[in-house]
Amino acid sequence: MAPEKLYEGKAKIVYATDDPNLVSQKFKDDATAFDGKKKGQIAHKGVRNAAISTRLFRLLEENGVATQLVERTAEDTLLCKKLKMFPVEVVVRNYAAGSICKRLGFEEGVKMKKPMLEFFLKDDSLGDPLITDAHIEELELVTRAERDEIERLALRVNEVLSAFFAERKVILVDYKLEFGIDSEGNIILGDEISPDTCRFWDAETREKLDKDRFRRDLGGVEEAYEEMLNRVES
Ligand code: UDP
Repeated sequence: MAPEKLYEGKAKIVYATDDPNLVSQKFKDDATAFDGKKKGQIAHKGVRNAAISTRLFRLLEENGVATQLVERTAEDTLLCKKLKMFPVEVVVRNYAAGSICKRLGFEEGVKMKKPMLEFFLKDDSLGDPLITDAHIEELELVTRAERDEIERLALRVNEVLSAFFAERKVILVDYKLEFGIDSEGNIILGDEISPDTCRFWDAETREKLDKDRFRRDLGGVEEAYEEMLNRVES
């Protein structure tokens, strides 16, 4: 019997498994940008993102951050703990790029004085808006204690990943994290960490090595994902 599809997102398909506490996440080559207005495919992205995310989640586990990952069961598939995801996305910014440049007039590439955290509401129909603590509280998206734990974990993730990428001559510009709660009530890092969800720049040339190459039609999209896989495996 074919496994039951629980959810199909823009970049992944989530399947049920025999164990109610586990799901199987298959990474797709499909790519979207600008709230799904731009669509395409990036060859080998599913396999490469599954490999990159596996390496980074293992690294975070080794450094005290609990993640959803159980094991990589196929080249493009990760067996994961089933989580009840919080309806927020957490963006961590070390350098200015993307929406913060448009919103606040930052010049791209300016270094933040300290890592900056932003929360966005996960709601496609509203275009995933930026939200404040007052919005989080009023809409009861997460409790104050959960919000503070998410912040602590995101900043820990940032320390670990920034150091890891610096050793590989990559600037970790910004990225998006998603957290959820497991069956035992623990707050766990979920989703993925890949060139789809991060901005990576070569530390020497500042060449973009992430999905911005797709978003902005810069060419060399597949090569950028391949390069990031090589760097995280080095
Ligand atoms: N990001 C993501 N998914 C989203 C929105 C943002 O993975 O739905 C990532 C994006 O790749 C970047 C960081 O979060 O690394 C910050 O994105 P930003 O707010 O600048 O939005 P953008 O204008 O890039 O969509």
